[in-house]
Amino acid sequence: MSKTISPERFAARNAAFLPEHFYNIKADLPACPPPPLHPGTKAPLRPSDLEAVFSRGFIAQEITRERFIPIPKEVREKLAVYRPTPLIYASGLRRALDTPAHVFYKYEGVGPVGSHKSNTALMQAYLAAAEGVETLVTETGAGQWGSALAQAGSLFGVDVRVFMVRSSFRQKPGRRTVMEMFGAKVEESPGPSTNFGRALYEKDPDHPGSLGIAISEAIEVAVGGKNSKYALGSVLDAVLMHQTVIGLEAAAQLSAAGAEPDVVIGCVGGGSNFGGLAFPFVRGSLAGERKTRYVAVEPEACPSLTRGDLRYDNGDTAGLTPLLFMHTLGRDFVPAPIHAGGLRYHGMAPLVSHLVGQGMVESRSVPQAEAFDAGTLFFKTEGILPAPESAHAVAAAITEAAEARASGQERVILFNLSGHGFLDLAAYAKNGRNSSS
Ligand SMILES: *Cc1c(COP(=O)(O)O)cnc(C)c1O
Repeated sequence: MSKTISPERFAARNAAFLPEHFYNIKADLPACPPPPLHPGTKAPLRPSDLEAVFSRGFIAQEITRERFIPIPKEVREKLAVYRPTPLIYASGLRRALDTPAHVFYKYEGVGPVGSHKSNTALMQAYLAAAEGVETLVTETGAGQWGSALAQAGSLFGVDVRVFMVRSSFRQKPGRRTVMEMFGAKVEESPGPSTNFGRALYEKDPDHPGSLGIAISEAIEVAVGGKNSKYALGSVLDAVLMHQTVIGLEAAAQLSAAGAEPDVVIGCVGGGSNFGGLAFPFVRGSLAGERKTRYVAVEPEACPSLTRGDLRYDNGDTAGLTPLLFMHTLGRDFVPAPIHAGGLRYHGMAPLVSHLVGQGMVESRSVPQAEAFDAGTLFFKTEGILPAPESAHAVAAAITEAAEARASGQERVILFNLSGHGFLDLAAYAKNGRNSSS
């Protein structure tokens, strides 16, 4: 009897929708974005320039043009704990909006720490462990990325050290607890333990921090440490590629339901959950097989796509990272301490920037109050509390559904619910008003 039950058999059944490969959109782009440049010489970056910062396995994934990159079985096994994530028909929301639109959402909040970030964290920790890296150093905004990497590091035996943006550190103490439970070391950024952070910290010990500053601190420590590398939770091509498990699953799940999206929506901080959902669909658009619209949604307080310039800029504040060709508000930009900490980033993934520049992807900004209203309505109608970041995607989906109602269209809307908001209840209690206001 028990012969029919085995972990392998169970995993095989469960994995029907779990992809075996990541999808690399660079294999299908007619032209790739301009290459990253060395921050010192301004010459196109060589892979070896990155070796002080990233693991070699990660660099290989960052530069490859192969269309499909296999997901190692060790990583698939960990992904299978929470993947495939559900694709849900938003019946409650649809009724409340009295819309003819069909609204579907992919729910990434079932991940181990409540967001999509584990999809790339597991892969990055695996690659680091495979080549004997002992410590991964990183930054975190709202804490989702730090938590995801802390968990992934603990699974694959890599120590994790996290610089957490001060405004989030103080707003979201629960995230620090999560990271420390996984054994990670967490510090407020900017702080006294790096040369770059110390200068800012001494001028203002309450400096709210920013992702750009925290990245500078993390890179400084990673490069200076012994057998330590840096890990980034968004923006880079490889990170977006790891996140395509979202869109690959969603495409299979939707097509099993006989549906095709007319519009695909995601919130954007660095662009990874949006790219992860959208790129497998964009592949069809590039091939002329579909006419889907793609909408990237950002907060009004940090409008890199809608108000920034498309140009070369550093990914961090100190200017340590390569120059990336992206939509940017400038590396010195310090956004207001909005609750959607994961969207407080001055730049945007070069691949998302490129598609916006080409007119393939639309961009939209949403004020914080509208995002919280949308998140609250979603909680009441669907019973899932969106992370403040994800609430921006909910707001845009509601706008699309209202437009469908006004024009009597049956449009199919697909959006990514990138995370749950149960560690963000304090923000909801304030009705989305800034802690500082
Ligand atoms: C980090 C985060 C984001 C923003 O990052 P992207 O790279 O743009 O996806 C959005 N939602 C949640 C829940 C996050 O944790």
